[in-house]
Amino acid sequence: MPFARFDDPQQALRLKRNLLALAAGAVLSILWWILWQWNFFRATPREFISLLGVFWLINLAWPLIIITGVNRRFRDPSMTLAQMAWATISVMVSLYFIYDMRMVVLMFYLLVIIFGAYHLRLAGFLFISGMAITGYGLVIYFLSRSHGEILNLRVEYVQWLTFSVVMTCFALVGAHLSALRRSHHLQNKQLAEALDKINELAVTDELTGVWNRRRMMQALEQHRALAERTGQNFVVCFIDLDHFKLVNDRYGHHVGDVVLRTVARVLRAELREIDDFARFGGEEFVAVLAQTTLGSGRMVAERLRRRVQNIDFHESAPELEVTVSVGLASNLPGETVDDLLRRADQAQYRAKTQGRNQVVLDQTEN
Ligand code: GH3
Ligand code: MG
Ligand code: MG
Repeated sequence: MPFARFDDPQQALRLKRNLLALAAGAVLSILWWILWQWNFFRATPREFISLLGVFWLINLAWPLIIITGVNRRFRDPSMTLAQMAWATISVMVSLYFIYDMRMVVLMFYLLVIIFGAYHLRLAGFLFISGMAITGYGLVIYFLSRSHGEILNLRVEYVQWLTFSVVMTCFALVGAHLSALRRSHHLQNKQLAEALDKINELAVTDELTGVWNRRRMMQALEQHRALAERTGQNFVVCFIDLDHFKLVNDRYGHHVGDVVLRTVARVLRAELREIDDFARFGGEEFVAVLAQTTLGSGRMVAERLRRRVQNIDFHESAPELEVTVSVGLASNLPGETVDDLLRRADQAQYRAKTQGRNQVVLDQTEN
């Protein structure tokens, strides 16, 4: 039999609720025992023990069903309706044996209903209260037949009527509260989803869909902290499109946007999963090559440069050729992210002045 994994928070919560229900069962048993001791519970010791025995046998079955995970196969794995029906039957059967103290047990029963009400919808509530009202009616009927002499029927009818009204109100209010709880739950979920979306938008570049500068700055701080701890190098590539202003001027802003989107997509795809990539500004991108030395970073940067040069833009602009200038710098111990970026940017500037469409390394010694 598959045992429930209690790292499953839902099952853990169900078991916790069940243990609470067991505690309520224990209180009810004590109540019965007191009533029995004081002769309000009209049962022989054998009857009393049997009733208590059956009551606990089934009470203990519920948590067992959860622990073994069998409840997952049920339509409602929380088994709320079944357990409430069981509580109702237990209380109604015990009422048959109880003399004048029926109201005490019924009051306790209302408490159980409220606690069990988390999952029920209106139909479930109406079913349970219908069951309780009918059950109590049957108890009065059977008592009037078997113990008519000790029963004050008028008192019983008034009590039954009051109980019926109260139970019906409970059902309606309970269903309303339960619906409120569900809609609250739903709203919280939607809110959480919206928050996720906002967080995602806050770190995404709108035009290209890659990370934005803010997210890249966070990532760079993480790379820096990791490098401080492990001593592993990483490389920052500053990538700037060459003469991009001309692209806009010749082909229009729309084509410029297409170029930015395409270059971003191609570069991102060219990098490894563990590398980071962002649009840093207008036509500038930054790539971080994790666990990489300057020497192997150069080969990657060369590959990126060639890859961009080979992009075919003939659909948007037949004559268009796009190239990039790349500046590379590797992290130095104790250096700030800003300083590292500045060195990569300066290398990129040299790539521009030396004729563009090339990779230049910042040679500051490690
Ligand atoms: P260099 O080779 O020296 O880098 O020349 P450049 O023309 O690429 O550099 P410059 O900084 O003079 O111009 C960058 C241009 O990028 C100017 C601006 O119109 C364009 N640009 C910036 N952001 C966007 C954008 O979101 N869409 C488009 N289409 N163009 C953009
Ligand atoms: Mg620029
Ligand atoms: Mg440029």
